[in-house]
Amino acid sequence: MSPSRHPAEGEDFVREMVRRDLENGKYPSVVTRFPPEPNGYLHIGHAKSICLNFGLAEEFAGRCHLRYDDTNPQTEDPEYVAAIQRDVAWLGFDWGEHLYFASDYFERLYAWAEQLVRGGLAYVDSSSEAEIRHRRGTISEPGTPSPDRDRPIEESLELLRQMRRGEHEEGAHVLRAKIDMAADNMLMRDPLLYRIRKTPHYRQGDAWSIYPMYDYAHCLEDAIENITHSLCTLEFENNRELYDWVLNAVGIERPRTEQTEFARLNLGYTVMSKRKLLRLVQEGHVDGWDDPRMPTLSGLRRRGVTPEAIRRFCDDIGVAKSHNVIDVARLEHAVRDDLNHRAPRALGVLDPLPLELIDWPADRVEWLDAPSWPHDVPREGSRPLPLARQLIIERDDFSDDPPPDWHRLAPDRSVRLRHGVVVHCVEVVKDVAGRVVSLRCTHEPRGVERPADAPKIHGTIHWLSAEHSVSADVRLYDRLFTVEQPDAVDPETGESDFLGHLNPTSLEVRTAARLEPSLADAAAGEHVQLERQGYFVVDASSTPERPVLNRTVTLRDTWAKIANLPEAHEAAERARRNAAEKAAFKAEQRRASAETGEVADLDPERQEIAQRFEALGLQTQDARLLALDPALAQFFEGALQAHDAPKAVANWLLNELRGLLETRPIGDLPFAPPALGELVALVDGGEITAAAGKTVLAEMVETGSPPREVVARRGLARLADDEALVPHVEAVLASHPQQVEAYRGGKTALLGFFVGQIMQRTRGQADPQSVRALLTKRL
Ligand code: ATP
Ligand code: MG
Repeated sequence: MSPSRHPAEGEDFVREMVRRDLENGKYPSVVTRFPPEPNGYLHIGHAKSICLNFGLAEEFAGRCHLRYDDTNPQTEDPEYVAAIQRDVAWLGFDWGEHLYFASDYFERLYAWAEQLVRGGLAYVDSSSEAEIRHRRGTISEPGTPSPDRDRPIEESLELLRQMRRGEHEEGAHVLRAKIDMAADNMLMRDPLLYRIRKTPHYRQGDAWSIYPMYDYAHCLEDAIENITHSLCTLEFENNRELYDWVLNAVGIERPRTEQTEFARLNLGYTVMSKRKLLRLVQEGHVDGWDDPRMPTLSGLRRRGVTPEAIRRFCDDIGVAKSHNVIDVARLEHAVRDDLNHRAPRALGVLDPLPLELIDWPADRVEWLDAPSWPHDVPREGSRPLPLARQLIIERDDFSDDPPPDWHRLAPDRSVRLRHGVVVHCVEVVKDVAGRVVSLRCTHEPRGVERPADAPKIHGTIHWLSAEHSVSADVRLYDRLFTVEQPDAVDPETGESDFLGHLNPTSLEVRTAARLEPSLADAAAGEHVQLERQGYFVVDASSTPERPVLNRTVTLRDTWAKIANLPEAHEAAERARRNAAEKAAFKAEQRRASAETGEVADLDPERQEIAQRFEALGLQTQDARLLALDPALAQFFEGALQAHDAPKAVANWLLNELRGLLETRPIGDLPFAPPALGELVALVDGGEITAAAGKTVLAEMVETGSPPREVVARRGLARLADDEALVPHVEAVLASHPQQVEAYRGGKTALLGFFVGQIMQRTRGQADPQSVRALLTKRL
């Protein structure tokens, strides 16, 4: 990458600044650093800083240092040093040779301190901590000088040397900068530079009895390493003046490191201070730093969150100057998006209820070939799934007394077993207390046409063969706290009681859970989606005898508050997710109906209708599918009245609408047939893309709104001309420089990736054909 990469639309203020500084020749190249203090594990907030600092170095062909800011001996530990390197590398960043320790600079920092004393810019103060605090003054009143402020230089120098040699007790003296006791910025009122600490340092042993303060050390560490852009969080805004004062005082010349602040990441329903995280660990509220409920990178990893999802999330939230709390729904969204194409689908039952197929021979086992991926994930593979007489289903999927819109099993009702057969509940077995202990069902044979009067199918549920399934521990993790800001200060007590907000049900272990046999030998770290239950990862403690799964995230947001996602975006996102799930359902239905030979032999009346549809230009199979169901056939003809394009209308009706209906009869739809015709006309006329059409249809099914109204309200009209697309194309190319380079280097398969990014940016409004053409031209 050349340093003058293309300016990206909506580029954040830090990137803008770096680009400017490079273009103006202020610095020959960008040098950033990520400076953790090794006093705890890294968390998702650190990830924001890592992605920013290492990301800048990557994007602008500079470098990023990993520097341990280990200047406080009291809380630092080699365990943390190792964990931090592991986590940064796991996120996918490489510091190369640039691994540094601030403690290696102690000699140089001390030499500068003596230089400041000799120059009259620092002095040793022998006041107590309380006196120093008291004399600092307030925001409205200036401070008062310490009696030691004018101590002779030689005396300060001698005391400082004695302090270093360990000849004084902690608290007896401190070294202070001599700046201005009346400064408006309280930090400039003779700040402390060094204090005595008789604690051995984890790397320096007891070589030192004095340790530098953050404000003195940090800027000098940056200067020593020739950092150009020293990025820190907003709380340090007032410290910038001191940062520059120290660099001036020791005589570092410009151009030199400059501090810039950005807003820290605050995430809802968790805490991010290392002190509080340490308390959670030490007091046993969680099971270590890598407990999957912790916001630490090691916790997220154990939870099954991938580094790609975290980087994507950091990209998505961006870098700005304003404080806010980011909704965890956004992190969860990034996680689902990433796992969707990474986690094969499987079946698992968390709370088993036995179900016996009474008309299935006791010794018969049929091995079904079940696809591991839904049709909208471009991956292939399947696994064998055994169907037998003794099954189990999820206890929640049966109701003895079903509510009106129950789409699962109930007495005398039918459901489809996912990938399997349709079953009908003929008997409910209960114990003396009236609790349901098992179900007895009949099944419909596969490969046979369903009779016209066959019972309605009330949904598709997951299931397992009792004998072939394996028992497992399935850990369901939920948010660690019950409130969005657990460390907010209580206005009544003036205190923050974050432990009081712990979620008592943040971990639930399902020890009776059972999994399909293919999961028996899943390796630690493997991702899987248990259909209808969520995404899971195989825990490190898992064994073939007893698999252990950790739930990474549920399939949908169960906490419902999506405050920070722009509403429209979220609605579209939800519709997209629903549509994808329903499309998978539809594919399954089609497969099932093809298997049962529904279209094979029609009675003469329907045969005639099918022929009529065929004459309109439909494929035989589609014509027959429509003819088979009188309600569907009627709907089709109604839709044609609004848009006389039989093939297109049939396609939308059979492939999209039918999937969205699940098991609802078409007569239950909240809109009339012509509305479907109108929608298809919008797509055919090029007013909206097919992708947008699907979103619109999903909303029509939910609300019954006319298609034009949905298009207008959601702003889904197609971005027809190239001019409207260009900024999106440019933005996507600019924010993926590595992929661009890879593409140009021959990895042309990346074209699909770029198209996807642009479709996502435009929420499906762009025409993929035009996008492709534009991209090919531009790349
Ligand atoms: P503490 O919790 O003890 O205040 P810290 O979170 O500041 O510590 P450091 O090890 O000093 O921990 O942080 C290393 C770097 O990560 C710093 O540059 C800091 O600005 C950045 N950082 C820490 N927390 C966040 C956050 N929530 N969002 C963005 N950056 C952060
Ligand atoms: Mg810090």
